Amino acid sequence: MPISTALIGIAILSCLMSFAVLGSLFHAQIPGIRHWCVASGLLTITAALLLLPRSDIVVAGASTLLVVASLLGLQGFRQFFHLRPSVIWEYGAVGAILVGLVYWTYVSPDVNARNAVISGFLAYIRSAIGWIVQRYRPAGRPKYSYHFVSVAAVLGAIVHAVRCVIYGLGLVHQTTFLEATPINVAFLAMATLTLPCLSVGMVMLAHDRLAERMERLATIDDLTGVLGRRAFIARAEALFDLAKAAKSKLSIAILDIDNFKRINDRYGHAAGDQALAHVALTISREIRQSDVLGRIGGEEFALLLPLTGKEEAARLTNRLRAIVAASVSHAPAGEVTCTLSAGVDEFGAGDTLAAVMARADTALYAAKANGRNCVMLAGSSQNRWVEPTEAIASSQS
Ligand code: GH3
Ligand code: MG
Ligand code: MG
Repeated sequence: MPISTALIGIAILSCLMSFAVLGSLFHAQIPGIRHWCVASGLLTITAALLLLPRSDIVVAGASTLLVVASLLGLQGFRQFFHLRPSVIWEYGAVGAILVGLVYWTYVSPDVNARNAVISGFLAYIRSAIGWIVQRYRPAGRPKYSYHFVSVAAVLGAIVHAVRCVIYGLGLVHQTTFLEATPINVAFLAMATLTLPCLSVGMVMLAHDRLAERMERLATIDDLTGVLGRRAFIARAEALFDLAKAAKSKLSIAILDIDNFKRINDRYGHAAGDQALAHVALTISREIRQSDVLGRIGGEEFALLLPLTGKEEAARLTNRLRAIVAASVSHAPAGEVTCTLSAGVDEFGAGDTLAAVMARADTALYAAKANGRNCVMLAGSSQNRWVEPTEAIASSQS
């Protein structure tokens, strides 16, 4: 069996497998998957056409499918990263290439010109994929699969760019399509190797997106977008260990919305949900980047303040309380204003997370008993009220 036939066979199998695997991920509704899947299907047909006896129509058909599939693949990558998939001039370029294909196949047959133009376009497509994946790689995700795709795309781009230059400058002359010359076989082998790497890369990206969704579901509270209870406790344990090791300060505030049951009763549960999300967003906007906010109960939040002693933590919490009290959430039944009560304490050297949370909780109950809409600092003998005027002054500074 000629080596080029074996390489085409490998290409067919790998495109078919990518088509099947990407198809199995359809239900996950990951942007770009449909385009990638259709592109893999078209590439399978393209490779299969190359096994047929050569004729002008087969060559023109296979070349057209290759160009269209490559453009679809690039559009899939744009969709995956939430970019606008279509770029107008690319449609123009594809149209011009198709006209060129017809011209160099039927009017003035020129295999070299066809090869140069198609390879030039594929080099552009692969470079664009490599660039997009690096440019829009999500922060905080494992880098491996993104680098893998970029490397596979750039290698493919180099192979096609070299092929474009060689045929464009007439350095190699070819009289029939895929003539079994050493250079043709070398190009086919490299294209056959980089294409499955790119397809495997697409599957890796799709899996990373799924993993990201699962991790998000497990850590982020759906309604408010802040950490859920379990993830918050895990972060608190980790920050406490760090603070112990570095002998640095760490404080915690537990904040509870006042009379939230009444808000639900008066405005409805949906408005209550909206108010909860509003409070979380308002606090998130005001806290420092190093602070960690979590929703640890129905209408109860906890805030970790690294490198912060309890006096400063109480002052910052009081500022948040004042800002939330001055804000409104707009519900269909009217404007909803929430107030917060909070208890604050600092982690001690021999403390446990449960112990410090219990002390902050006791201070929170004292704040409720004190008439709500206030902050209490946990003390060794008794809780201490934090002056609200101080908070308003600091929130304006
Ligand atoms: P207090 O000032 O003493 O904290 O009074 P409260 O009414 O806020 O406290 P209580 O514990 O009596 O009631 C909490 C209410 O929060 C009851 C519950 O229906 C409501 N709630 C808890 N989770 C959610 C939620 O996700 N959405 C909505 N809309 N309400 C919630
Ligand atoms: Mg409450
Ligand atoms: Mg509560």
